[in-house]
Amino acid sequence: MIHLGLTCSTYTLKEKRWEGLSGSRINQTYLQSVLMAGAAPVPLPVIADTSALSSIINSCEGLLLTGGGDISPIYYGEEYSPDLRSVSDARDICELLLFRLAMERKIPVFGICRGMQLINVALGGSLYQHLGSVPEFNIQHDQQEERRTTTHGIAIETGSIMERVFGSQAQVNSFHHQAIKDLAPGLKVTARSPDGVIEAVESIDQSGPVIMGVQWHPEELSASEPKAAALFKLFVELCEEGGRS
Ligand code: MN
Repeated sequence: MIHLGLTCSTYTLKEKRWEGLSGSRINQTYLQSVLMAGAAPVPLPVIADTSALSSIINSCEGLLLTGGGDISPIYYGEEYSPDLRSVSDARDICELLLFRLAMERKIPVFGICRGMQLINVALGGSLYQHLGSVPEFNIQHDQQEERRTTTHGIAIETGSIMERVFGSQAQVNSFHHQAIKDLAPGLKVTARSPDGVIEAVESIDQSGPVIMGVQWHPEELSASEPKAAALFKLFVELCEEGGRS
């Protein structure tokens, strides 16, 4: 069974007894989705120790960058917008390092929501800091419906990894207020929402390990929707083929 590294988010408790207590955490749905796909999920601690992270990544055949808060705009050369939400410097540093280590080890990378945005920023692209400030994006991407409800459609590019799983279109959930603005060199868009927001990307280079990302949350759908489960299965298969050293 291959090891699939999954990034964690940071939390700090506010309740009086535990005030200031902090740590690394991951949603159970990511672990379940990876398990269902036949890989062993390895939650990666939010630390900045390069040798430790390198050592952990060397035992993984793939990296999954999970969802979460906003990435600091300093990494794409912008000031903080008033609409920017929570930023974790520790998480940004850790995930940018993990992405670089995964590239060096030549293992596949899958980014979900923030994870896709992280891939784009790490490769030199930029983000819209707040979709609500861009009039042309006129559908709801920060849905209030519960997380297993799908709320908008996406149109999928022919010949993409997404097409292999979903066909030419799909209905997805949507919990993001940011999105890719300038696409990084080396990536291509493989799905968009009806208002033009980038909803999936993948690497152009077919000879290297696959880099892929989605803006929605398939981990919340995989228990109820076979195609969302199949997306994790396909990624694990790509890791099994290309990730062994
Ligand atoms: Mn969306």
